[in-house]
Amino acid sequence: MSTRPETEADAPTFIESIFERLDVAEDVRQRLARAKFTAQVSIPVRMDDGSLKVFQGWRVQYDDTRGPTKGGVRFHPQVSAEEVTNLSFWMTIKCAVVDLPFGGAKGGICVDPKCLSRLELERLSRGYIRAIHDLIGPNRDIPAPDVNTNATVMGWMADEFAQIERRLVPAMITGKPLGLGGSAGRVAATGRGALQVLQLWAKRENKAPEKLRIAVQGFGNAGYHFARLAHAAGYRIVAISDSKGAIYDEEGLDPQPIWEHKNQTRELKDMVYCDESVCAQSKAENLSQQQLLELDVDVLVLAALEDAIDEDNAERIKAKVILEIANGPVTSKADQLLTEAGVLILPDVLVNAGGVIVSHLEWVQNRMGDYWSEETVEQRLDERIGKAAEACFERAKQEQVSMRTAAYLQGVGRIAAAMSNQGTRTYFNEHSD
Ligand code: NAD
Repeated sequence: MSTRPETEADAPTFIESIFERLDVAEDVRQRLARAKFTAQVSIPVRMDDGSLKVFQGWRVQYDDTRGPTKGGVRFHPQVSAEEVTNLSFWMTIKCAVVDLPFGGAKGGICVDPKCLSRLELERLSRGYIRAIHDLIGPNRDIPAPDVNTNATVMGWMADEFAQIERRLVPAMITGKPLGLGGSAGRVAATGRGALQVLQLWAKRENKAPEKLRIAVQGFGNAGYHFARLAHAAGYRIVAISDSKGAIYDEEGLDPQPIWEHKNQTRELKDMVYCDESVCAQSKAENLSQQQLLELDVDVLVLAALEDAIDEDNAERIKAKVILEIANGPVTSKADQLLTEAGVLILPDVLVNAGGVIVSHLEWVQNRMGDYWSEETVEQRLDERIGKAAEACFERAKQEQVSMRTAAYLQGVGRIAAAMSNQGTRTYFNEHSD
């Protein structure tokens, strides 16, 4: 969903409608209209066959009014300056929605990591940190994992930064392995946070988990942990997809053996599913990824990439609730069509904030030099995302607006207040003699 001010052609844009509702100062509108800082870097990597390949990467720091900027690093062939900028804007809003003392940033490299060897991937990860070293740090901009990057990649990046600085600076990056200053609970944080938001909705609507059938698009870090925890909480996961295909079983799927199978074979297709609780072997049906999106389920979870639902497929969506774990999985036009059709969309800037919430906890622990148990981390995560979600549900109800609008009102309101604290036109006019 391109909600950044300058990306929309139709007037008034979504973000302008938020500015108008909040009656924010012109200064705030101008400052939020574009990223504060954009870096494009070239990363030369020596390949295993001796050749040299130069990759293109970006780091965009969108806004740092509320604190150092924070955002993941994505390795994907579709990464572009525009994509990274959009993602950095959403990070800015997200950190404010859940009231973290962070601004928003994002990074990425245009690469298909599946075509690289492990050693090439390590050289690329280290090369990226060498290229952006001067722009990042615990008080300036703190990277984290995103699509196709994980704790191991974060560990390489932290080590490269430490080698350049000639000292350990664990708080410069989050999502690190536990042994290198990572936080307990970080790996599952995004999925856990998303489930918390769904649970709160279900509670408010008096819906029992076992009555809700869920389809999950995207079975990576975020989608898998969500599916695993939702299954454990009693929800029925009837379908799962990844970049190669989708599987469906009306009786419900157990995500754990599916994850293990995927890690062995790298795909979901043709998998034999065994429900350990009843020890029945059943063959999950294969679907196309598009068929999964169009299933008649109660909740459709989008945990892959941007623009999964656009104006072409929006009218075929039958789910009553959409849980946006991915960033921007529903385009603006599709958002409008679905909302008009009465579909409840629980928005990305709230739903997937669990990752950055635990990243913040990791950053705090690194700075304190003291580490918390998984239980403590999970309790703090649940508290923070629960409070933000309740505030959004209440605002949506009171102001009769969508959950996306409510979340943006919360987030932009906090950013606007911080910017206004630095003085706006009104302040300077009132104090000039
Ligand atoms: P990941 O790389 O671990 O997983 C992505 C998954 O999507 C993979 O299983 C891939 O096969 C699947 N996929 C790709 N294209 C697909 C398609 N067309 N249909 C179905 N599946 C497809 O990435 P991730 O970390 O799980 O992130 C997923 C999304 O969640 C991204 O949008 C990311 O920005 C967002 N997110 C992740 C985190 C986090 O902590 N991991 C935090 C916030 C937001």
